[in-house]
Amino acid sequence: MRTAKDNANVPKRYYRPTITMCPRCGAPLRWRWTQWDKYVVTLEGRLHIFSLAYSCSRSRCSGARVLYCSVEAEQLSPKGSSFGFDVMVQVGRWRFWDHRTLDEIAALLTALRLPVSRRQILYLIDDFLALLRAAQPVKIEAQRNYFQRHGLVLSLDGMEPEQGNEMLFIVREANLDLTLVAATLYSSRADLISRQLLEPIKDLGFRIRAVVSDADKNIRRAVEASLPGCPHQACQVHCLCDAGKLTFEADRAMKTDLRRDIRAKLRPLSRQLSQSSQADPVLGVLVDYGEALRDALRADGLSPFELAGLQLYDSLRHLETSLHRCEKKGGIPSCLPCWTSRLSANAMRPRLLN
Ligand SMILES: [Zn+2]
Repeated sequence: MRTAKDNANVPKRYYRPTITMCPRCGAPLRWRWTQWDKYVVTLEGRLHIFSLAYSCSRSRCSGARVLYCSVEAEQLSPKGSSFGFDVMVQVGRWRFWDHRTLDEIAALLTALRLPVSRRQILYLIDDFLALLRAAQPVKIEAQRNYFQRHGLVLSLDGMEPEQGNEMLFIVREANLDLTLVAATLYSSRADLISRQLLEPIKDLGFRIRAVVSDADKNIRRAVEASLPGCPHQACQVHCLCDAGKLTFEADRAMKTDLRRDIRAKLRPLSRQLSQSSQADPVLGVLVDYGEALRDALRADGLSPFELAGLQLYDSLRHLETSLHRCEKKGGIPSCLPCWTSRLSANAMRPRLLN
């Protein structure tokens, strides 16, 4: 349970108005009082925010009673909330764009030293959706001319980060990549998709030219019901990801094996290097190789085409060739034991390519 003591070491941050002179008479503004103060959880950490109120220092000025405060302070978090807009937007992004589960989001926040409970994360997701709904009309209005001329091509994406729990949906305009609706549905029933996602978009009054989605049968039924006759195509990225799943999984397994092997061998070598004489001219070169190797191990894949295992394999081969060249020139001791694990991948590679 949180106690009052927790607030002792929270950094204080003071916000003042941007103007320093009275706009009526030009006299300097003077501090009056603290308009409000509150604790706000931001991506930087938990802060104690003070919004300071200033007014004209000339008592006879016609604007002497006008108070000036910081606009920036007001923009940090919504009224009545102890979370910053930045945290809400980040959580929403993790949830809807990166398809993270609640546990993953909790872990990401903990890594930022922001321990937030699951329940609070759910509230933050609701806040994010409310923000999105509030911002959408302006964004859609800004594109009104375009939509009137070209109509909408909808891309409908449904996901289920926690299997068996609620479904998250995002509907975007595919040409402009503009989010039209984002919603959490407690079931993926066709009538719910129709009512909560497609009908509000129909109500905007633009011509809907086509829909792209995965091949989910509930989405198909909902589109048929709400948008009869509208062309509906299966999303190519979804199809390719499904088709490339086996290759992607095999590649990931290879990457994991390679990484484990190389890291295990790199650790004692790094230790050895850190203990060698700083005067040794070879040391700098080997440290650079170690760094390049560590960098190669960080390779990350993206389904369906970016295969991190193959990338890592190629990087290792280049490093090996380069090391061989160094050895031939002389001066670099043999580092071959570090590379032998790549041989285990040789057998895997043709299998993967087939
Ligand atoms: Zn004044």
